[in-house]
Amino acid sequence: MSNINFALKRHFGYDTFRPQQREIVLNVLDGKDTFVLMPTGSGKSLCYQLPAVASDGVALVISPLIALMKDQVDSLIQNGIQAAYINSTLNKDEIRTIMTDAKSGMLDILYVAPERLSINDFQEFLQSLSISLIAIDEAHCISEWGHDFRPEYRNLRQFKSMFPGVPIIALTATATEKVRKDIIYQLSLDDPEIFISGFNRENLTLNVYPKKNAYGTITKLLDKYKGESAIIYCFSRKNTEELAYDLAEDGYCALAYHAGLDPVTRKKNQEAFVADRVDIIVATIAFGMGIDKPDVRLVIHHTLPKSLEGYYQEIGRAGRDGLPAECVMLYSYGDKTKHEYFFRDIKDNKERDNARIKLQQVIDYASLRSCRRKHILEYFGENYESENCGGCDICMNPSEMFDATEITQKILSACIRTGNRFGKNYLIDILKGKKTDQVLRNKHHDLSVFGIVSDYTRDQLKDIVSMLIPTGYMSIRKGEYPTLSVTRKAAEWLNDKNAKIELPKIKGTVIDAYREVSEEFGFDAGLFAKLRELRKNIANDKGVPPFIVFGDVSLREMARFMPQTRQEFSRISGVGSQKLKLFGDAFLSVISKYRQDNGVSPMSFPSMPSARTRIRKGSAGADSRYQKTKELLEQKKSLKDIAAAHGFTVGTILSHIERLIAVGEKLDLAYLMPNQKTFDAVSEALDVCGDETLGPVFKHLDEKYSYDTIKLVRLLRRF
Ligand code: ADP
Ligand code: MG
Ligand code: ZN
Repeated sequence: MSNINFALKRHFGYDTFRPQQREIVLNVLDGKDTFVLMPTGSGKSLCYQLPAVASDGVALVISPLIALMKDQVDSLIQNGIQAAYINSTLNKDEIRTIMTDAKSGMLDILYVAPERLSINDFQEFLQSLSISLIAIDEAHCISEWGHDFRPEYRNLRQFKSMFPGVPIIALTATATEKVRKDIIYQLSLDDPEIFISGFNRENLTLNVYPKKNAYGTITKLLDKYKGESAIIYCFSRKNTEELAYDLAEDGYCALAYHAGLDPVTRKKNQEAFVADRVDIIVATIAFGMGIDKPDVRLVIHHTLPKSLEGYYQEIGRAGRDGLPAECVMLYSYGDKTKHEYFFRDIKDNKERDNARIKLQQVIDYASLRSCRRKHILEYFGENYESENCGGCDICMNPSEMFDATEITQKILSACIRTGNRFGKNYLIDILKGKKTDQVLRNKHHDLSVFGIVSDYTRDQLKDIVSMLIPTGYMSIRKGEYPTLSVTRKAAEWLNDKNAKIELPKIKGTVIDAYREVSEEFGFDAGLFAKLRELRKNIANDKGVPPFIVFGDVSLREMARFMPQTRQEFSRISGVGSQKLKLFGDAFLSVISKYRQDNGVSPMSFPSMPSARTRIRKGSAGADSRYQKTKELLEQKKSLKDIAAAHGFTVGTILSHIERLIAVGEKLDLAYLMPNQKTFDAVSEALDVCGDETLGPVFKHLDEKYSYDTIKLVRLLRRF
């Protein structure tokens, strides 16, 4: 085992690095400036915490949120790492003690609130230290271009000159190109190594349900995540209180949270949530900034969020521990007017227009008939190749198809005849034969397509038009009045006498209420509950949140492998040397008692640690789907058969296989080998074009081989 892998296990209890962590840690240890852009929950803290314990001197960490500082330090201390923080919650004496500790070289990590840095004495103090590295968390706070600018962060600009030669690592989850450049410029980072990973949060399921009987939908969802943490975002303070009240009446453990509560109640409610004393928080968007609770399993938006950026940030609070979590948006077109009502108060014209555009983008998202993940990632400028994400309501409930050939021909003709310059509503006016002023003015009531559709309602037509955009038949020109035009693909399609098109039928809500997590992940639910209880008690005694003792990932592993000795216990993810010492015996005795009382036997420990790294990334239910794929592969079924068994595409099955291999599953895939000629041709194209993106390979092969074939060859080549 290499040194840093050893340090990872010893100090943090993890067997493997998450993607990019290792490279980042090595880069920092190498003394280089580093910029990290990774989504929430991807494990950014470790990128500076591990170098901090692995090098001499003290690491300085700047972080904007005081509450988080305490959690982070508590968590480090439980791992046996010497850490402390200095911020306004401490008194003078406490601060003096910590400063003395830091000077004496006792500390590995010191968290500091940014406003401290404007104090002269404090600067002198910092310069008296032997600093190993400087980490700037939430680095976007330094940029006025970001969404969360904090003037105190401007103090950080002096770091490079104050501490020449000390590596700086800046980390953020939200940064556009502009903000990214600004951060690097403001901090004067010296030719930094830049690590950017995608925005995709694979463990989040993205669902949108129509808002009919909202309360019933919400309780159904809460039942599904009984006893676990959930956040419900509401439109107004009043809504949050009413909903929290109703839920409490019905026996749900729920509290409200909004900016109008007095600070003491607000703090109390938040703490109750963090300490697992209350399961559900019903909040306005004000909630969530100051907490880092890793085990939120469900986030519901009771009303439309104001923007997709905001939405992604809010749902980002779900599943930070990497375990599956579900995000549900309840959507009714009527909610739009609620928001718009408030837009009228916005004085600035540009700002108001902008608010409208942002809201429209949310509505577009909610009305999608194609993969939501793909849409949102593309919104953030990222490509998403997979045809079926396996983790949104659209991909998981493929609709029945209907023959949409004729109606599509009519829609496209109307678009062409009116000159490709009108929006959806106007086209529908034409098709339905509505003589509006605008139609009459343009003399479009003379067109042959005028009034040609009688067998579809306006709403159905809207849905169909919405589907023609992502399928590439129509393109939309965004602007104040978005207009539609017919694409070249559609023009060719219209010319082809034999062309057909099928589209999914519109459907109602499908809430999959069945969720037996313990079965899916193969752990003992009864033991898990006992372990949670123990965790809560220990946390209470220590005055820290339960997740600081152990995360759900650790407890699930304990409830699966049921370790009996300290040695076995140490192999659980999240158990480092300190936690083994502190908590090992307590957990072992609960496990052993449970085994005796219930006569249960554990899953045996796999021999290789890497084989134990089960598939954590993946949406709710993903694990069982992967297992199914694996089993069918073992039965040597064809890719087509496996796809049919799941109701997925072959492309998705290939993605499953890639993922299975990535987590160390041993699969025998030789039987999937295509004929030699195909393999050689595709393989050669992969050599020429590289195998990261498949578009160029497809073109290089004159579109003769399908994407699935290319993907398969790419997969087989990697052995
Ligand atoms: P971020 O700051 O990027 O939002 P965090 O640093 O808070 O993410 O980490 C999110 C979660 O991931 C934490 O619960 C952390 O313990 C866990 N984690 C981080 N690195 C690893 C790893 N290598 N293996 C397992 N869990 C990890
Ligand atoms: Mg963080
Ligand atoms: Zn999807």
